[in-house]
Amino acid sequence: MKTERVLITGAAGFLGSHLCDRFIKEGYHVIGMDNFITGDKKNISHLTSNSNFEFIEHDVTKHIIIDGDLKYILHFASPASPIDYLKIPIQTLKVSSLGTHNCLGLAKNKNARFLIASTSEVYGDPLVHPQTENYRGNVNPIGPRGCYDEAKRFAEAITMAYHTYHKLETRIVRIFNTYGSRMRLNDGRVLPAFIGQALRGEDLTLFGDGSQTRSFCYVDDLVEGIYRLLLSDYALPVNIGNPNEITIKEFGDEIIKLTGTKQKMIYKPLPQDDPKQRQPDISIAKKLLRWEPKVNRADGLRITYAYFKSLSSDDLNKVEHKSFESYVK
Ligand code: NAD
Ligand code: UDP
Repeated sequence: MKTERVLITGAAGFLGSHLCDRFIKEGYHVIGMDNFITGDKKNISHLTSNSNFEFIEHDVTKHIIIDGDLKYILHFASPASPIDYLKIPIQTLKVSSLGTHNCLGLAKNKNARFLIASTSEVYGDPLVHPQTENYRGNVNPIGPRGCYDEAKRFAEAITMAYHTYHKLETRIVRIFNTYGSRMRLNDGRVLPAFIGQALRGEDLTLFGDGSQTRSFCYVDDLVEGIYRLLLSDYALPVNIGNPNEITIKEFGDEIIKLTGTKQKMIYKPLPQDDPKQRQPDISIAKKLLRWEPKVNRADGLRITYAYFKSLSSDDLNKVEHKSFESYVK
């Protein structure tokens, strides 16, 4: 039987690289695509000698050409951390608008099933708690997060339009905060920020009073949920995340305990529009996909900390991932 082919955009990123691993494990031929704007070649270096993996360096906001058949397209290319998308807001808007349009056009050409990585950020600073899929959100379109939130909302809208107008098979996953190996230590997200600070012997930067909440999902659980959603026949958005909610202050305490650092937490101003609470309602995923997270935070954090500890001191001390200016056209 012919090996089925899957295109994964954002393949050199945190989630994209884990998805490449999963699809190869499931027996697919994976085509990874990335322009490395926030990704890292190292995340896929273990796959380069695998005959079921090929890599195309390409910016998905430009027309995409792939020879041969495609069974699935998973569009994961997009900066995902607030610091990243504040630095490159135009690229962030383009990758989820023009990039999603290009991926959908390709999916239509190939008659491939398309899955878009959406986000809990479509709910903005939510006024409904926990967040259900039918909540329409509280997003500030012109605030600092608007470039990301609105681009993802557009991505959902155009995905649904291809589904209803072109009858394309589509899936929309709303991903809540996820963590694990291959996150960039300096990408500004709270988990790598706190662990990096602990490893460098710096104080942990707590934004606001730390009473804002998040619910952290371990990457393997997320990948399982995405895989099941892709294979389902459900075209409406599905929340995938871990409902175990914690304040960021409590999370900082957990990282201090885990790393054994002697440093303390220091208070910094809360960024504008930082959501005050976030917890996924996963009733649909539970019922439809028979999915719920399996890895508790203590275990997930232990595995993730071991990964960060194994990084070189160069990685640990890198302040800037790369020159974003070189991408700004
Ligand atoms: P990441 O920054 O590690 O990975 C994103 C990848 O996309 C990078 O490798 C980057 O180089 C690539 N990319 C960006 N723009 C591109 C372009 N124009 N062309 C080609 N490649 C491009 O981020 P991540 O955490 O792996 O997030 C992946 C996806 O999941 C994103 O769409 C993000 O919005 C979504 N998501 C992630 C989380 C999370 O907690 N990690 C939560 C919600 C949604
Ligand atoms: N945060 C923090 N210190 C940091 C980085 C983040 O206190 O060094 C807070 C941030 O204000 C937010 C939470 O941690 O309330 C999660 O932030 P992250 O950037 O990881 O993700 P998001 O806000 O997109 O959920």
